[in-house]
Amino acid sequence: MGRDAMDFGLTPEQKAIRDTAMQFATTRLLPGYQEREKADRIDRELVKEFGALGMLGTTLPEELGGAGLDFVSTGIIAEAISYGDHGLGYLPLLSTLVGEIIRRSASEAVAREWLPRICTGEVLPCLALTEPEAGSDAAHIKLRAERRGDTFVFNGEKTSISLAAWADMAVVFGRSDPESPGAHGISAFVVPLDLPGISRTVFNDLGTRVIGRGSIFFEDVEVPASNLLGQEGRGFRQVMAGFDFNRALIGMQCVGTAQASVDETWTYVVERKAFGSPLVKFEGVSFPLAEQETLLEAARLLCLKTLWLKDAGQRHTAEAAMCKWWAPKVSFDAITECLLLHGHAGYSDDYPHQQRMRDVLGLQIGDGTAQIMKLIIAREKVGRVAVPY
Ligand SMILES: Cc1cc2nc3c(=O)[nH]c(=O)nc-3n(C[C@H](O)[C@H](O)[C@H](O)COP(=O)(O)OP(=O)(O)OC[C@H]3O[C@@H](n4cnc5c(N)ncnc54)[C@H](O)[C@@H]3O)c2cc1C
Repeated sequence: MGRDAMDFGLTPEQKAIRDTAMQFATTRLLPGYQEREKADRIDRELVKEFGALGMLGTTLPEELGGAGLDFVSTGIIAEAISYGDHGLGYLPLLSTLVGEIIRRSASEAVAREWLPRICTGEVLPCLALTEPEAGSDAAHIKLRAERRGDTFVFNGEKTSISLAAWADMAVVFGRSDPESPGAHGISAFVVPLDLPGISRTVFNDLGTRVIGRGSIFFEDVEVPASNLLGQEGRGFRQVMAGFDFNRALIGMQCVGTAQASVDETWTYVVERKAFGSPLVKFEGVSFPLAEQETLLEAARLLCLKTLWLKDAGQRHTAEAAMCKWWAPKVSFDAITECLLLHGHAGYSDDYPHQQRMRDVLGLQIGDGTAQIMKLIIAREKVGRVAVPY
């Protein structure tokens, strides 16, 4: 049996948040979605508009610059923003994820230094865990964070980091104890990305080019010990635990992107005629769209339930993993159907469906692949006997 969750109504505040975010997404973001991909950079003034609307670091308390919202509201924002631009949908997610990690594990001084500026959009944050030889197997990262008095000296590479090209700061995971090869011995830090010895490269990605995924290199980078998050050597289990909600936000992000394609496709098949009728008269056209509406609604509800469990303080690890493997896949399939229903025109950049397909595909990998998510669900059901290592 699933956990208890029956009230499907949004509060008046949540409805107002949805309306504001959708208004911003459809008038400010959607018209420039394809142009922004060609620009290959992030518009920092636009990021500040997110901040002014209270859409960054949304769950952080007001005294730290946040909007003090619940996680369901954050999911509603993620969906709405991604309706306008999937890539910019990373902004509410990363600012909330990194912001919550800092709020929970940083010293008060570090939190006060960074969080208000993350919330205004002045500072772009990223989360740097993955390495060239450790993605799914994240407990085996190698980046060295060697303690020398009041500093940790970083050497190594982080790769596949969203916003690597533009970020001003990162939460970085490194090995502070080389004698411990697994999760023990990993520490987490707040790292300003303008420190000497840091360089970056950007990937030539298939999609979400606006977020500049890439590598960050550290060569004898001195990070103050006061930037440590949580306890030394406990960065993996202690600092990373409790952030399952991000997987439901990713689900909402993908559903929002796909919903934009589905909505546009209903309009298209009503207007376009073949064999003397609007396309929508043919059940071979309307039924697939009706199926995609159904699947997207189911995925949305799963994500919202997961965020509701988070807000209610209940365990939601399995539900979050379900959101993460399923919603990006359902969204990709829905967009593919929309592209096909546009005929030859859908295969060109006259329409945004090809871009949305490329964009959402990345999130079948980012933050953990479907296989890893299914391992988590199995582990939640029957315990570690289901884990193959
Ligand atoms: C768009 C995007 C954004 C990202 N953003 C970030 C970011 O901001 N920060 C960050 O740190 N990382 C980020 N990543 C990296 C991402 O988290 C990793 O790519 C992901 O965890 C998988 O790691 P990997 O690529 O090394 O694949 P691998 O771990 O090498 O896996 C390769 C394949 O093997 C499968 N596999 C591996 N182990 C098992 C197993 N035990 N059982 C079954 N199958 C298995 C995987 O599912 C996958 O299909 C991002 C990735 C993408 C694509």
